[in-house]
Amino acid sequence: MIIAVDGPSGAGKSTLGRMLARELGLLYLDTGAMYRAAALAVMRSGVSTRDSAAVAEVVNKARLNLEGDPDSLRVTLDGEDVSEEIRSEEVSHNASVISTISEVRRSLVACQRQLAERGRGAVLDGRDIGTVVFPNADIKFFLTAQPEARANRRYEEDRLRERDASFEDTLADINQRDRRDSTRADSPLAIAEDAIVIDSTELSIDEVFQRMVQEIKERA
Ligand code: C5P
Repeated sequence: MIIAVDGPSGAGKSTLGRMLARELGLLYLDTGAMYRAAALAVMRSGVSTRDSAAVAEVVNKARLNLEGDPDSLRVTLDGEDVSEEIRSEEVSHNASVISTISEVRRSLVACQRQLAERGRGAVLDGRDIGTVVFPNADIKFFLTAQPEARANRRYEEDRLRERDASFEDTLADINQRDRRDSTRADSPLAIAEDAIVIDSTELSIDEVFQRMVQEIKERA
């Protein structure tokens, strides 16, 4: 069973993806974490993110892996646990930049398909799961919310992690990443034709979760 959870930054994909995977006993794959780990590999190599061919070479050579349960998912790069390091602002920015390079996407999509086939099913969260990675997914969700609501959630998370980005900067970053993700030529963020769209601007995490579970039950 493959469940796709797509949507823009801060829409709650990873929290809900994790909750669904736990509820259904499936693997959870955070594909954004893979783009982040790939970006970290590029940053460490010293290659410019503008040099697409060199970036693709670094990413092709990097050994990326996602391991563990939905609640304790770890991201490794060449065997090193980089789960915390990939959450920095600089990595977020560079992940969004290198994810526009087709060869990078090809390599990560192949890796995502392989990882998803390890278990009896998986919940994948990302931007192109229902459109490109698994166009035949059993069920596709597209989670969204108004940019201000998404920025507010990110801002609160950052405060808990003692990061001091202002709300305005967080909103500007979300808008910039949305624009880049939606306008890139290869696999732009888009709603799959058969996706169930849920706007969570006015909903709690639990309300969204209940709706998703209901949809899955109805289709099972
Ligand atoms: O979801 P997250 O914010 O961790 O993703 C980091 C970046 O990776 C996104 O801004 C997006 O540009 C890219 N990404 C992507 N396709 C995916 C997942 C993430 O292009 N399936």
